[in-house]
Amino acid sequence: MSRITPLVRPNIAALTPYSTARDEYDGPIGIFLDANESPYENGYNRYPDPHQAELKARIGGIKGIPVKSLFLGNGSDEAIDLVFRIFCEPGKDNAVIMAPSYGMYGVAAAINDVEVRNIRLDADFNLDSEKLLGACDERTKVIFLCSPNNPSGNAFELKQLLDICDRFPGVVIVDEAYADFSEKGSLAKEATVRENLIVLQTLSKARAMAGLRIGLAISSEEVIRLMSMVKYPYNLSRAAMEKAFQFLEKPIDDEVNTIVNERKRLASILPRFPFVQRVFPSDANFILVRVDDANALYDYLLGKGIIVRNRTRVPGCAGCLRLTVGLPAENESLLNALDSYTV
Ligand SMILES: *Cc1c(COP(=O)(O)O)cnc(C)c1O
Repeated sequence: MSRITPLVRPNIAALTPYSTARDEYDGPIGIFLDANESPYENGYNRYPDPHQAELKARIGGIKGIPVKSLFLGNGSDEAIDLVFRIFCEPGKDNAVIMAPSYGMYGVAAAINDVEVRNIRLDADFNLDSEKLLGACDERTKVIFLCSPNNPSGNAFELKQLLDICDRFPGVVIVDEAYADFSEKGSLAKEATVRENLIVLQTLSKARAMAGLRIGLAISSEEVIRLMSMVKYPYNLSRAAMEKAFQFLEKPIDDEVNTIVNERKRLASILPRFPFVQRVFPSDANFILVRVDDANALYDYLLGKGIIVRNRTRVPGCAGCLRLTVGLPAENESLLNALDSYTV
């Protein structure tokens, strides 16, 4: 029995998953009269592969992850929701989440009627492991960590994340949506051999496919089996899988390097503006800055056609705007607009 088996909700452990027509026949070309599809071929008249074998093999190959440790979802958001549905008993179990962090953890928890315990990061967005683990009780099934963290931008040391994994008896999710921009590395390989670690990645950020909605979960075979069993059978469309397969041909190194260099350039210039109080260090493709009057600057930029994310109402982010790193020319426009801003 694996370490996570006792954590699974009894109704999920007992679940007989939906068996698709294509599960029952995986031979070669045939006459398909099994799925009530239209027989008129247009490229999309047939249901897509519910196991996503080709795309998984491709992504697994690129990342060096065995296919059995890989789950593909309709964005990372699907994987986040599935974690609650698989492990958390509504109205009884709870999840511990660092704050500030990605808003979807709390929303997915609320939808699933799971209590959330927010553990505040310190003023520099460092994570206190003792405080985090101290907030857990026997009803805490999952801990959500995000590294590099959104909206602060900082990545945590892998050692600290693994230590939490070692000490917590439940499931630890490490969201690595921005890991491609970080020099701190990834826990993806670790997750294939640790039963209670789930690493989330996505094609939405560095891979430039936010519109296709494809997120990854990397974990032990047991966790991936559970997620695959609970997901909607055809959660990825044929169109999304085809496009992703095609886009994955293109290396992203140059784009990632440019974004990281632009991030460093912005981080070195932004402190020169008199209204900028603090530029937080970032390992991601965005920078959190604290300014004198976040709402006023936000409105000013909006008036210039530059849309940034106003985070001033998020606890721990008072006065902060989150700036996504754009193309060099776009960043130049941002800097020019800031140049002509007078408080
Ligand atoms: C953008 C983002 C994701 C990606 O979500 P998708 O549903 O895959 O687009 C996941 N986690 C964090 C923290 C993010 O900022």
